[in-house]
Amino acid sequence: MIPCLFDITARRAELNGGDIAMEEVATGRTVTYAVLEERAARAAGLLAAMGVGEGDRVAILCRNRIEFFELLFACAKTGAILVPLNWRMPAAEIRPLLADCTPGLLLFGAEDAAVAGQLADAVPASLALDGDYPARRDASPPGLCRRQWPAGGIWYLLYTSGTTGRPKAVIYSFTMAMVNYVNISQAIGLTGRDTTLNFLPLFHTAGINLHTLPTLIAGGRVLIMPGFDADVMMDLVAAGRLDAIFGVPAIYQMLSLHPRFGQVDLTRLRSWGCGGAPLPDVLVRRFLERGVRVCNGMGMTETGPTAFIMDPNRVAEKIGSVGKPQMLCGVRIVGADGRDVAPGAAGELWFGGPGITPGYWNRPDATAAAFSADGWLRSGDIARCDADGYYYVVGRIKEMFISGGENVYPAEVENVLAQHPAILEAAVIGVPDGKWGEVGHAHILPRPGLDLPPADELAAFCRDRLAPFKVPKRFITVADFPRTASGKVQKHRL
Ligand code: ATP
Repeated sequence: MIPCLFDITARRAELNGGDIAMEEVATGRTVTYAVLEERAARAAGLLAAMGVGEGDRVAILCRNRIEFFELLFACAKTGAILVPLNWRMPAAEIRPLLADCTPGLLLFGAEDAAVAGQLADAVPASLALDGDYPARRDASPPGLCRRQWPAGGIWYLLYTSGTTGRPKAVIYSFTMAMVNYVNISQAIGLTGRDTTLNFLPLFHTAGINLHTLPTLIAGGRVLIMPGFDADVMMDLVAAGRLDAIFGVPAIYQMLSLHPRFGQVDLTRLRSWGCGGAPLPDVLVRRFLERGVRVCNGMGMTETGPTAFIMDPNRVAEKIGSVGKPQMLCGVRIVGADGRDVAPGAAGELWFGGPGITPGYWNRPDATAAAFSADGWLRSGDIARCDADGYYYVVGRIKEMFISGGENVYPAEVENVLAQHPAILEAAVIGVPDGKWGEVGHAHILPRPGLDLPPADELAAFCRDRLAPFKVPKRFITVADFPRTASGKVQKHRL
């Protein structure tokens, strides 16, 4: 047991209390580290007064805003467990999550008041962030962090976006947050002089961890944007206000289509990280032409999330790679026989180390299924490692389909399709076929203003670059894709 090690805001208030910790771009609201600590301490006092104790869950339904983080730190002080909820879900989808984590309190922002109202009977108490909360917080005596910090202590839970089966919440411990901080600061050279951008949703690991918590631990500044806005982002980059960002491929796609993409000096922003889904090679090249090295990285909610990131100096040479394992992440590539594959061969990625989740809340069955007998997390992703130690994600086991007895990984086919000048993005799925068992169907989003060429021309384009069994049998034009909040295509809905 280590006493009170994890009181980040208290420590930061001592070290650089006068510096701005967070700034909301849209509203102009700011907090210094001293104010963040004061509010987190009073919020901790309020939670205690409302009967929320160590180990109790506190659900929160809100967009990106300063209060989310003061409550996250309040929970760290009291030992309560914060549970961010997905504001894109209707009340009917949130209900089973509340039944699973049984929070004592639901906090909500004005935008989500209607859904919170429909859930009032599912929680013992609710509190409006834009209503009573600020006054009640400010009237509460500061709750000091008196807790010992058990190394495995739970800080928050994140529900995976999986649409089938019972809800699964990934446990985040204090240890995972510290490991993520070490990994990120090692990978991107993060310091207390850096400003980063918070815009990915807060119910997703990237919204909390890339790079917001590491920036606050380092003592830097976080700009908060309630959702991604390419115009605002271009303004911030042009003004030299950002040092490091993390985005998903869909964000990079939007930036590359922005009218000012060719005009703004993008090199004013030092570190461009990307992950969460396959990053098409063409997109990396488009940014390289503008002098920007987009560093592909890979991880999972369960890995806290950083597992791999690309070294900026090798981006041009290793296009398609997710880089090397991060400082504190153990990685293996394992074959179907449970042994490490031969060098260069493909196999399942397994993860280990202190940054990996201890498991799923309330779900010993799911936890046991996800980990090997000796404690390695099975990712469900297939990868290979080249002779220089750079890793390449080949595809996901659950997306793989078998055509004429051969394995097809949609990610490889999508990457080829994205090289066609008329194609902005592609999503390939396997569908049953009488002759081949399964065949690929490609759903295609054309580049704005361009028409898709005929199917035989697209098939020929693929045949020049792929083995015949990988070439899709149908090409279907779409106006847009159904996506998760982090921009991933929801293939089960295609
Ligand atoms: P669910 O909520 O249904 O579990 P998910 O599996 O997509 O959704 P996440 O933890 O958000 O959950 O995503 C992790 C997965 O995203 C990885 O297992 C991998 O398949 C994919 N992924 C992440 N980064 C990359 C990348 N750079 N290249 C290819 N795939 C990636």
